[in-house]
Amino acid sequence: MASPGPRVVVFSTGGTIAMGRSAGSGGVAPSLTGADLVAAVPQLAEIGVDVEVRDFRQVPSASLTFADVVELAGEIRRALDGGATGAVVTQGTDTIEETSYLLDLLHGGDEPVIVTGAMRNPTMAGADGPANLLAAIQSAASPVTRGLGCLVVFADELQLARTVRKTHTTSIAAFTSPGSGPIGFLREGQPQIAAAPPRRPALPAPPPGKAAPRIALHTATLGDDPALLEAVAGLADGVVVAALGAGHVSAAMVPVLAGLARRIPVVLTSRTGAGPVLSATYGFPGSESDLLGRRLISGGTLHPLKARILLQLLVAGGAGHAAIAEAFAAG
Ligand code: ASP
Repeated sequence: MASPGPRVVVFSTGGTIAMGRSAGSGGVAPSLTGADLVAAVPQLAEIGVDVEVRDFRQVPSASLTFADVVELAGEIRRALDGGATGAVVTQGTDTIEETSYLLDLLHGGDEPVIVTGAMRNPTMAGADGPANLLAAIQSAASPVTRGLGCLVVFADELQLARTVRKTHTTSIAAFTSPGSGPIGFLREGQPQIAAAPPRRPALPAPPPGKAAPRIALHTATLGDDPALLEAVAGLADGVVVAALGAGHVSAAMVPVLAGLARRIPVVLTSRTGAGPVLSATYGFPGSESDLLGRRLISGGTLHPLKARILLQLLVAGGAGHAAIAEAFAAG
């Protein structure tokens, strides 16, 4: 008997790719099911992939939560354990850079998990949802994406969840990996991978029912006000600082950050969006070496939004300062 072809499970969660004209608001809102999305791609009948659809949510991606993504990761695991070759998640583009990274951190297997969506909704000329969904399914069905964790596929480019950013509000080429670029492309419907970086081991999912830890994200700015950070951080279980340049804040911010770092994990990242936080170049008050010497943890090359997700998952799992520092050092 011939061995069955690849089987891909598509989890639909809403977003622009699944939006239609809404009578009430006059704008578009999530209304399409996963079956509707698949039906809009007739080419799927020709590629020899068995496609199964699960409607997970039908929301704009701003309304997805940490708990939703943890639950989705569990459903993906069950589908893969049930024999699926790979999984595709369709969702709103606004939070893909965070959800895909959380899925990546939680995904321990070699099976591909591919996230996609659309920048142009289905009522627009040249809507990109069908092409992106086709490319995502082709990627999830392919052996060449195995072992790469969670990837984001838009405009025929494959980006690592760890690096991908939404870098434009409307362009169909909005998804980029600043500083590193895509890890591959689709050529005539087949993904091609240029170079596969090593993967970190998966992290455990937080215990079900536990509230997500509160992780504040503070962006350092010209004339930053320490009182504002102090007010917010009073509620926080951890803080990510999107610092200036290579990891700098004003001298005025140092006492509050040093005080916080004695109490809760504080991770130092850069608001520039590419390149590493340095460790030993600058020596002024508020410099990277000053802050790292005061128990702040280096976020390395992680973007502040990704660092916030990693810290949230680590704190949810009960990790202490040393384990958090080790996890960030592992990249
Ligand atoms: N503009 C968004 C999108 O591209 C809306 C959302 O994230 O749900 O899907």
